[in-house]
Amino acid sequence: MEFVPHVIDGVETASADGQRFATVDPWTREPWAEVALGGEQEVERAVSAARRAFDQGPWPRMGRAERGRLLHKLADLIEEHGEQLALVDTTDMGKPIADTRGKDVPRSAANFRFFADHARLTPDEALPSDTGHHIYTRHEPAGVVAAIAPWNFPLMMASWKIAPALAWGNTVVLKPAEQSPASASHLARLALEAGIPPGVLNVVHGYGGSSVGQALTERPDIDRITFTGESATGRLISRAAADHLTPVSLELGGKGANLVFADADLDGAVNWSLQAIFANAGQVCLAGSRIYVQRPVYDEFLDRFSKAAQALRVGDPKDPATQVGPLASAEHHAKVCSYLDLAEQGGGRLLTGGRGEGWFVRPTVLVEVAPSSPLVREEIFGPVAVITPFDTEQEAVAQANDTPFGLNAIVFTEDLHRAHRVSAGLRVGTVWVNCFFVRDLRAPFGGVGDSGVGREGGSYSREFFTEPKAVVLRI
Ligand code: NAD
Repeated sequence: MEFVPHVIDGVETASADGQRFATVDPWTREPWAEVALGGEQEVERAVSAARRAFDQGPWPRMGRAERGRLLHKLADLIEEHGEQLALVDTTDMGKPIADTRGKDVPRSAANFRFFADHARLTPDEALPSDTGHHIYTRHEPAGVVAAIAPWNFPLMMASWKIAPALAWGNTVVLKPAEQSPASASHLARLALEAGIPPGVLNVVHGYGGSSVGQALTERPDIDRITFTGESATGRLISRAAADHLTPVSLELGGKGANLVFADADLDGAVNWSLQAIFANAGQVCLAGSRIYVQRPVYDEFLDRFSKAAQALRVGDPKDPATQVGPLASAEHHAKVCSYLDLAEQGGGRLLTGGRGEGWFVRPTVLVEVAPSSPLVREEIFGPVAVITPFDTEQEAVAQANDTPFGLNAIVFTEDLHRAHRVSAGLRVGTVWVNCFFVRDLRAPFGGVGDSGVGREGGSYSREFFTEPKAVVLRI
């Protein structure tokens, strides 16, 4: 069986005590690789290596252009090894190979290219002064960054965190999710091959609470924590970070609403809504899991959406034709099924879908669900859409805003005025109008309420991963 090591100070290594854990292929439900199980000792070694690389190594000092060159080289290597990386993520978490090949891998390379260029091309400010002084800002690297990633986009989420951190001259300790750890070690190996010095990107494997994740967040010598995962974990990390006043960026859960107005292009609304909830089997923070449809087109939308959901190809994630794979773990499958049970116990009417074989849940459509139901208010993180009719624009916006989350929403309308008005009224970090998942990496990305704290992307990442310094010079 393949062994997935930590990568610490440029060296692939097992844990000092030899501990390992298995990572399971959700399609076969069998272990497919053994992973080094880290503890305090590995965290200590990785953070010390990152500290040394930051305090004494060339990385923070080599300048943005040279760092950018090496990050572009890493992006080249990600593309060269794209097939292998895609296969690793598909095997580790069950995501269809068409997605890992066509989206996750190219987007991971694009993250490194974008942040390399962004750091190189973003000017610092010079502030005009009429008091006989010249004032300017320097964006200096923050130091050692702990990056804690979720399992749903293993390589892509890791690159989204690491790329801006490295581009701005920081060093990183990455803790990938225990359910999908393998691609992180490959990435660290490619970073070394690209010429990024040892200790700049370290990977330590292990669990979250009472393990590697928690140990990282409790250390006084971590300068930034960037975390993506569940809102409940975000709270724990915020608390741990508060002890040392470590700045945190939290990208948390979501309960996205799609608002389909009667004037919408219904083909577009059905197609985008389908992708928004069934891509990656609904295991997407941005999933459009609540669909509100204006009454005149409700029946037609329901009919078309349910038929389209039934037509999706569910199956072996390694088959390039598969559109929906299994859920990522037994534990997560049980969680999603507990929501299906709620619906069965009278919490709604199942139009299509439900439990499949193994860890599958078929694309599921529920109607007649009460607004107070956990199916509407909690993040299911599976291929389960709840569809509800509405009458007025005000009602639609109020329903969309009626959860503790606020990551994103989608609006379908051909009315320009309505598009702007509704976008302004939604309490979320991103609104897509007549589209979904279009990501411009300069744009702020993050959420409101339980969906997170802070924004990443473009200059927002610079603010988080640097310490801006003002220099005031008497002329
Ligand atoms: P999770 O919170 O269970 O775990 C995420 C990571 O945190 C893992 O690496 C885990 O080991 C670690 N962790 C767990 N407990 C910890 C602790 N006490 N201290 C430190 N680290 C700890 O989340 P998950 O189940 O892996 O991911 C799914 C969640 O991520 C969903 O809620 C989803 O919406 C969210 N997500 C959000 C975004 C976004 O950009 N907002 C993107 C992807 C996923």
